[in-house]
Amino acid sequence: MEKMLAAVFHKNETEGGFVSLEEIEIPNISKTDQILLEVKACGICGTDLKILEGGHPANDNTILGHEFTGIVKEKGVEVKDLNVGDKVVVDPNEKCGYCINCRRGLSNLCDYMALGTTFGIFQNGGFAKYCVIPRSAAFKLPHNINMTAAALIEPLSCAVHCHNIADVRESDNVVIIGAGPMGLIIESVIRKHPIKNLICIELNNWRREKAMDLGADFVINPYYQNVKKEIMRITNENGADVIIDAVGLSETFEMGLSMWAPGARLVCFGQDYRAEAKIKPNDIVRHQRKILGSYIGNAEDFLDAIELINNKVIEIEKLITKTIPLEQLITTGFHLMKERKCVKIIVNP
Ligand SMILES: [Zn+2]
Ligand SMILES: [Zn+2]
Repeated sequence: MEKMLAAVFHKNETEGGFVSLEEIEIPNISKTDQILLEVKACGICGTDLKILEGGHPANDNTILGHEFTGIVKEKGVEVKDLNVGDKVVVDPNEKCGYCINCRRGLSNLCDYMALGTTFGIFQNGGFAKYCVIPRSAAFKLPHNINMTAAALIEPLSCAVHCHNIADVRESDNVVIIGAGPMGLIIESVIRKHPIKNLICIELNNWRREKAMDLGADFVINPYYQNVKKEIMRITNENGADVIIDAVGLSETFEMGLSMWAPGARLVCFGQDYRAEAKIKPNDIVRHQRKILGSYIGNAEDFLDAIELINNKVIEIEKLITKTIPLEQLITTGFHLMKERKCVKIIVNP
């Protein structure tokens, strides 16, 4: 039996766990609607680290990696519209297609996902040479697309979704709180549209510099600067029209409330289930403000993200900090992520 290298997650008895690189058997198609992918590229996500630290659930003995692209190697008899050799990107969150949310066009909120089905978290994912997925999880890619760049499509789809939820207008002052990998990817999507000012708030020096490099008009270090004062100065005392909280802590949400303009949209993107905040409903009523949630992306956001990569709209060379072989996942990949000196590290298994 032929073998492949794979990054397998092993649960600790208490919480979290560890990843080990192991030689395991190459998987086979077992259902008629499946495809066998030869994985070409898979991004490392903050969620991967959270899984190891115990901050996100995952199944024991699962191959991690949920931001991946590949080439169709084999296909089940029911798969008619894909051919061997086709390039695809994977939507790791399997959708049912028939729950009430799917039927209402909210496939990113599909009930089925609550069962824990994500590839690379609850089912085997992309940190391996091969992976079996259902046809429904694959989006066909143009033939000439760069497969390493295409590994950005999944996180980009979440950024596109967030941009649409925020309903960003040309005259808006836009603030992004938190310039971690997702904050920076959201920034690069927003930057492609004309707006008044783009302001990033971030503690980490490397990330603030990256935010400038990606086109922020202003960056603010909340450790040394008075955030509210700075935002008011930049916006002529009006406040921020769009605020994206890409962190999700009580403090960052409340920071958003301290700076919102009349008519503002405050978009909650970052997640921390422990966060709580106090809010005065009248501040919403009297100034007709909106608080919105943005959760992953739907199928249409994937299509848009594919075009952002295919048309080279997004400066991928600024977002892909490094590409590494799977052998270096732990030593180089996880290490750089923990140092917070990267946007995306892409693994070529
Ligand atoms: Zn991710
Ligand atoms: Zn559904």
